[in-house]
Amino acid sequence: MSHLTCQEFVELVTDYFEGTLDENVRIRFDEHRALCPGCETYLEQMQETVAKLGEIPVETLSDEMQSVLLSAFRDIHRGPPTDRTT
Ligand SMILES: [Zn+2]
Repeated sequence: MSHLTCQEFVELVTDYFEGTLDENVRIRFDEHRALCPGCETYLEQMQETVAKLGEIPVETLSDEMQSVLLSAFRDIHRGPPTDRTT
């Protein structure tokens, strides 16, 4: 059993909305949502955006946006920053 990474999750979001995910990939996608609050929130925000626009906002999946999201995910996964003086 291999779990999706956050990056893989973000890359699959568009396919998820288009309904083109393979069944076994979609199961892993749903598993990741359940385990990862950052990705769950991201997916909810995407769903709201899609509902408003009536289409998938491809520009929100730009490389820049992905790197912003992924750094946020890393913060979530790492927990609060350790108190470290330089
Ligand atoms: Zn995630």
